[in-house]
Amino acid sequence: MIQGFSATDACPVLHAEHVHRLVAWLCSEPWRYGLSMNLRIAGVLVVLLCGCGAFRRPVGKVKEQPYRSQSILEADSPSLVVEIDYLEGHAPSPVSVRLLGRRLALYTDKPEGIRIHVDDEIPAKRWDGKRSTMRALVEAHAEPPSGNVGYIYLMYLPGFRNYRGLSFQPRKLSKRFNHPLAFVYPGRLRGRLWVTRQRQESSVVVHEVGHLMGLVSHPEHYVDGHCTNSWCLMYDGLDARSVVLHSLPTLFWGYLPTRFCRACRRDLWPDGKLPGRKKADRAKVHIESSAP
Ligand SMILES: [Zn+2]
Ligand SMILES: [Zn+2]
Repeated sequence: MIQGFSATDACPVLHAEHVHRLVAWLCSEPWRYGLSMNLRIAGVLVVLLCGCGAFRRPVGKVKEQPYRSQSILEADSPSLVVEIDYLEGHAPSPVSVRLLGRRLALYTDKPEGIRIHVDDEIPAKRWDGKRSTMRALVEAHAEPPSGNVGYIYLMYLPGFRNYRGLSFQPRKLSKRFNHPLAFVYPGRLRGRLWVTRQRQESSVVVHEVGHLMGLVSHPEHYVDGHCTNSWCLMYDGLDARSVVLHSLPTLFWGYLPTRFCRACRRDLWPDGKLPGRKKADRAKVHIESSAP
């Protein structure tokens, strides 16, 4: 018995009725298209069933407006600074920094621009894998700008437990640090098939920044703090389930989620209009590096 068979009702791609029809069709004329074609269709069916059976259920109905970070999203703070520090040997990949810039330009309203500053390289010997050290490193290296400026602090470290990334709202990691902050752990990322390490790093960093923006706190489409839509970047990372689900779209359309789903976009901007849809908005992103 395939676990979660009945959950096909929750799947936007494949409904129970389609499955029954497909199975009936396969059984009616099994040899018409030859064995290899039948096997291929059966394989696709199994993959879809496993994937769809794994769809997550949201926790319930909306009670209040989900949280969204004013300083990161709104034009009240007309510019945004992202500071990135990293442990020696774990510098952010330029590809992921550029993707972060493009997504920030798309999802935030910053008329005076977005500055991403790849800043301090922290000596490798300073890292011992402890949470208390994460806090101490943030307090020692973060340099929040003064004035009315949106600010995100990111730190790249080799790894912490099994996390690929972790995000903290202001004061959650350190009482003394009143800014949104996230960690990316490139040492925990392994390329799997066509999903390269660099690609994973890009999606981890935008995923963590999504949490800092306020995602996912809408009960109609979250479970365990993540989106129930496995096509969404705010789905719970890259696990066996999402590999199964993405394998077909990636093979056929080169698809991988690096964007937020419609429901998540509406949590950020309830009218559904994203601030940065034009090319000019991308030009507002400046990336600079203090690296030698
Ligand atoms: Zn997450
Ligand atoms: Zn989503």
